[in-house]
Amino acid sequence: MMCENATKLASDELDRRLSFGESVGLRLHLFKCGACSGFVRHIKVMRQVTRRYVATDASDPNES
Ligand SMILES: [Zn+2]
Repeated sequence: MMCENATKLASDELDRRLSFGESVGLRLHLFKCGACSGFVRHIKVMRQVTRRYVATDASDPNES
């Protein structure tokens, strides 16, 4: 799997359930690719932050 494909699947995974093949391919790629596992950690944190803001309806004080 290419990094481009892995990062796309990782963000897809936040919105939909991956197929078994996609999930395994992604896990394998993340296991050997530090860049993509770092990216996945980042988007998961970003997603949690976004959800929290949506849930509490708070405005972002760091908004540019
Ligand atoms: Zn990668």
